[in-house]
Amino acid sequence: MASDHVDVLIVGAGLSGIGAAVHLGRECPGKTYAVLEARDAIGGTWDLFRYPGIRSDSDMYTLGYAFKPWTDPKAIADGDSIRAYVRQTAREYDVERHIRFRHRVVRAEWDSATARWTVHAHRDDTGEDVTLTCGFLFTNSGYYRYDEGYTPRFPGVERYVGTLVHPQHWPDDLDYAGKRVVVIGSGATAVTLVPAMAERAAHVTMLQRSPTYVIALPSRDPFADAARRWLPPKAAYAVARWKNVTLGVANFQLSRRAPGVVKRFLRRAAKGRLPAGYDVDRHFSPRYDPWDQRLCVVPDGDLFAALSAGRASVVTDTIDTFTAHGVRLTSGTELPADVVVTATGLNLLALGGMTLAVDGDEVDLARTIAYKGMMLSGVPNFAMTIGYTNASWTLKADLVATYVCRLLRHLDDTGQQIVTPLAPDTDDLEPIIDLKSGYVLRAVDQLPKQGPHAPWRLHQNYPRDVRLMRHGPLTDGVRFARAGTPAAAAVATSGGTDA
Ligand SMILES: Cc1cc2nc3c(=O)[nH]c(=O)nc-3n(C[C@H](O)[C@H](O)[C@H](O)COP(=O)(O)OP(=O)(O)OC[C@H]3O[C@@H](n4cnc5c(N)ncnc54)[C@H](O)[C@@H]3O)c2cc1C
Repeated sequence: MASDHVDVLIVGAGLSGIGAAVHLGRECPGKTYAVLEARDAIGGTWDLFRYPGIRSDSDMYTLGYAFKPWTDPKAIADGDSIRAYVRQTAREYDVERHIRFRHRVVRAEWDSATARWTVHAHRDDTGEDVTLTCGFLFTNSGYYRYDEGYTPRFPGVERYVGTLVHPQHWPDDLDYAGKRVVVIGSGATAVTLVPAMAERAAHVTMLQRSPTYVIALPSRDPFADAARRWLPPKAAYAVARWKNVTLGVANFQLSRRAPGVVKRFLRRAAKGRLPAGYDVDRHFSPRYDPWDQRLCVVPDGDLFAALSAGRASVVTDTIDTFTAHGVRLTSGTELPADVVVTATGLNLLALGGMTLAVDGDEVDLARTIAYKGMMLSGVPNFAMTIGYTNASWTLKADLVATYVCRLLRHLDDTGQQIVTPLAPDTDDLEPIIDLKSGYVLRAVDQLPKQGPHAPWRLHQNYPRDVRLMRHGPLTDGVRFARAGTPAAAAVATSGGTDA
């Protein structure tokens, strides 16, 4: 058993965890910190996913960190470039030496008497259990299970003799050249895989139960290219970032206020990129409104190009059963397949699966309310990073890290050690994630809630959050205290009443 103490413990060395460490090093230089990472690599999502074509679907001027310009001309970047950017950030800002790899955090226990968390981690490589203590726990563990992607139970799948793959566990040696491929799904992963695999496969069929909104965007941003020619890198990056933030907010607001207009625009844009007579309504006109689920971006229209060239096709139908050599659909059509890719999504997982206790009471996440989208009611000295659902994740991650640093400085300045959000007195609660995607709906009952008003409401609006998190008050809705003060009465525990 090893034991240790740091001021701040960061969980996760993905895009958010590395960013959090950089913020901490720059904005609270006196604080000691460690990063515990379950895997043996930096990069999280961008290291885990290795399927053909893996790339961002938001632009890198907003998916990159505020403090480190994205200088690659590609605005929509491939997974390797993003992984390299995160690793380079860790090296450049001296974060690497603080990371302890292969430490999976399983539990954290808060003690008000000492104003400390005791954090338990397990090392899968050595089997060792490690205990650390910290003054502030900052989880950056992403939002889904790493060990298992989501695959629905398909009837007859055991009969299938071809290769069945989930994009989250892509085999290095999978050779699909000249093979018939079926990709099940219609989300960001499916629309990425289809054109990428169609370059070498005999044919790729995207089999979807229902359509998704798909929009083609240029992989290079002429505005950002021009800004880079005329301005120093930092200024060019800031200008491109704010241009994309503004466009993103405008697009989201328009989708919410005039969904019909946006629907028609997206339909027309898809139709314009597909061959005459293509059944756009069947394959590209969803029943839901734009931004009820994330919009799928296809760089330079690569999906539409593969469909137009006949290298790929879309089938909108449901699976009756797998057969030995493919899939039979409810309509009776048979889709022969040498390879079937189940691009059917993720298993949502809050806080990387760790459990929390406050002064001996178990915390039931579903009974907590998120404060500014980043702390939990009744849970002292704790923050978590959950990015935007309608914009780049990192925009919010940067703001959360900045806010944590402001809080830590405030505690020091006022001679206090504990900050605890106090649950608002309201029954008007909603799920913390407002998307209606399957992976969200499957897990929404286990997640924290959000309230009706700031600071308990997530606005999913970056400019508004900049005001709230960078410049807004630190004292609304929270209680500051010295070590020894018992945790707030409003702790939402599994034994408590409904929040
Ligand atoms: C295929 C794919 C494409 C995406 N594309 C985009 C995009 O284009 N734009 C966008 O904004 N978002 C995108 N996202 C969302 C994406 O996850 C975020 O952009 C971002 O990578 C999240 O970074 P993170 O560090 O918060 O989480 P992650 O990347 O998930 O990293 C979390 C890290 O924490 C570690 N960890 C987890 N639990 C524990 C634990 N208990 N103990 C210790 N360590 C732990 C993990 O091993 C991992 O290294 C995408 C997601 C996926 C899956």
